[in-house]
Amino acid sequence: MQRDPILVTGAAGFIGFHVAQRLLSAGETIVGLDNLNDYYDPALKSARLELLSPHPNFKFVKLDLADRAGMEELFRQYRFPTVIHLAAQAGVRYSLENPHAYVDSNLSGFLNVLEGCRHNGCRHLIYASSSSVYGANTKQPFSIEDRVDHPVSLYAATKKANELMAHAYTHLYGFPTTGLRFFTVYGPWGRPDMAYFLFTKAIAEGKPIKLFNQGKMRRDFTYVDDVVDAVQQLAVETSPVSKAWRVYNIGNNQPEELLGLVSIIEQKLQIRADKILLPMQPGDVESTFADIEDSVRDFGYEPRTNIADGLSRFVDWYRGHY
Ligand code: NAD
Repeated sequence: MQRDPILVTGAAGFIGFHVAQRLLSAGETIVGLDNLNDYYDPALKSARLELLSPHPNFKFVKLDLADRAGMEELFRQYRFPTVIHLAAQAGVRYSLENPHAYVDSNLSGFLNVLEGCRHNGCRHLIYASSSSVYGANTKQPFSIEDRVDHPVSLYAATKKANELMAHAYTHLYGFPTTGLRFFTVYGPWGRPDMAYFLFTKAIAEGKPIKLFNQGKMRRDFTYVDDVVDAVQQLAVETSPVSKAWRVYNIGNNQPEELLGLVSIIEQKLQIRADKILLPMQPGDVESTFADIEDSVRDFGYEPRTNIADGLSRFVDWYRGHY
């Protein structure tokens, strides 16, 4: 490895894979960490890693974030000027049944990342937060400035806790931290547990789809390449702001109803969906809508992909891959 590597945690995951690919193409050296858990099909994680692994500037480390000794050893072995922390136990509904997984990965694991940064001269920690932090907040669009966070799931609560933990570490030890509240990220190589993926699979297979809140839920679907643009901009194209704790919305600023999402998939596949309309689920929020003014102003964030184009790329990938 030539230069000091960037650590990308969750590199076998959906967003981490895309981030690692982009940064490798831009000439960066990457250490990718993942525990390759079976929250969803591990074959998809292996397939992503198979694409990254041949790159001479990529090294994969299989490690659990919650393994304190392993994490200490990793941070001693390399000096990471920048850490992009994307590994986490994701998923709102899963957190109702498996709360301990969230404490292990998202709280203990996050602490191990913070400690690694603190003791080993990291100059910038960028980490994934989530739009779910806004929770039951009804003032739209969601703005960081309003400070109206009402997490309604343990998953969301751990993401809010990450922002607070990062605040304390920046305050105490001075390294800059930037939290990114991602809004429903979708795209090729996406997560099989997410609605757009489940719908595409079910419609393609002629199976019914479940639409909670009668399909009236709105999500600010954000295409993965736009998210990667934001991460790249912050990680390598702009200098971190000294001693700054920052949190940004990374959304599309254009919410779409689930029924609208389904109709785009139907048109693309040329198959009519068999829809089962159901009530709201505990832990879900009715609508998400990102105010992205700060991200635009501070680092030139610009979501470029509309939902029809982005979903069309996803469906093309889905058909090619499966
Ligand atoms: P993902 O599940 O595809 O990726 C996460 C990766 O982290 C997985 O490969 C998993 O194996 C790994 N991982 C989980 N726990 C780990 C642990 N304890 N140790 C090591 N590795 C572990 O999810 P994603 O969609 O790529 O999400 C990336 C980040 O963005 C997560 O922090 C997630 O909470 C956040 N986020 C995602 C979305 C979205 O819409 N995809 C929205 C908001 C926030």
